[in-house]
Amino acid sequence: PKLDFAAYAGLPKKRPVKRPLRIALLTREPKNYSSQRLIEAAQARGHVIEAIDTARCYMQIGTTHPQVHYDGKALPRYDAVIPRIGAGITDYGLAVLRQFTNTGAFCLNSASSIGHSRDKLMAHQLLARAKIDMPVTAFAHSPKDTKDLISLAGGAPVVVKLLSSTQGKGVVLAETRKAAESLTDAFRGLDANFLVQEFVEEAAGTDVRAFVIGNKVVGAMKRQAQKGEFRSNLHRGGTASTIKLTRQERDTAREAAKVLGLRVAGVDLLQTEKGPKVLEVNSSPGLEGIESATSKDIAGLIIEHLESQVRPLARVREPA
Ligand code: ADP
Repeated sequence: PKLDFAAYAGLPKKRPVKRPLRIALLTREPKNYSSQRLIEAAQARGHVIEAIDTARCYMQIGTTHPQVHYDGKALPRYDAVIPRIGAGITDYGLAVLRQFTNTGAFCLNSASSIGHSRDKLMAHQLLARAKIDMPVTAFAHSPKDTKDLISLAGGAPVVVKLLSSTQGKGVVLAETRKAAESLTDAFRGLDANFLVQEFVEEAAGTDVRAFVIGNKVVGAMKRQAQKGEFRSNLHRGGTASTIKLTRQERDTAREAAKVLGLRVAGVDLLQTEKGPKVLEVNSSPGLEGIESATSKDIAGLIIEHLESQVRPLARVREPA
């Protein structure tokens, strides 16, 4: 029988050496569910964690002694930073995160991976290049040829999305070509980036959120839209329940997170006959919906992943 070296050496099985980490939780909302759960999970494992308000950080950019300042003082050096950067503060938040990286802190998701996933044009292009399936999508800024744009998306019905949308706010279903044309015209008038996308009718008001940590899907939930609504966002009254994914769905979710370089990601998928289609990859996925749908300690898994990354376990070699 194989010798269990960890037991033989009197070491606990999974984490032979544990060192308390000093962690910064970069968030503007220290009281929300996700922040509270991460703080709880880190403290339960003996780490020191502080909530740092992204907007209150300031810094001197120079070649020596990179530091992040806060309320008149330089912050201590953190081993790790957990970024929870809201869409409203992406650019500044990423600058703060880069500065933390310069101080030598390990960032759970890097500034560039968050940047790539927030930029929907970029994210779609990177996923497409990696051959990850998504609904047929046409992008535009202010196209003269509305008709052609709608045709590129496969014709009505189509979903028109403002790229700055979150929580399903700027996402509209146009059931006829006429409706699609007037919507596109209206969006063009806003001088905003938008996309026109094939409406995946067979998904029927449901989508799937796969929660990826490291290279693993640790939980998944199916979100069902309210009656008469095609958007299944929980903020729009959708309801969630746990779901077992197919291997193909899991692989797609893992691959999507990997392509964007995210260690922690919420990958939104539509389920179709021909396999999953990726809608979006979220770099600061909320914990409340997924934890209550799956009854799993997702926050704990995030902290454990952090431990394994910040302080890679010394390889324990079995005696010959
Ligand atoms: P947001 O980022 O604002 O949440 P999404 O692109 O995720 O916007 O769209 C919101 C919801 O609308 C999705 O969760 C999904 O239920 C539905 N939806 C979005 N795009 C499509 C589509 N192409 N076909 C069918 N349903 C869609």
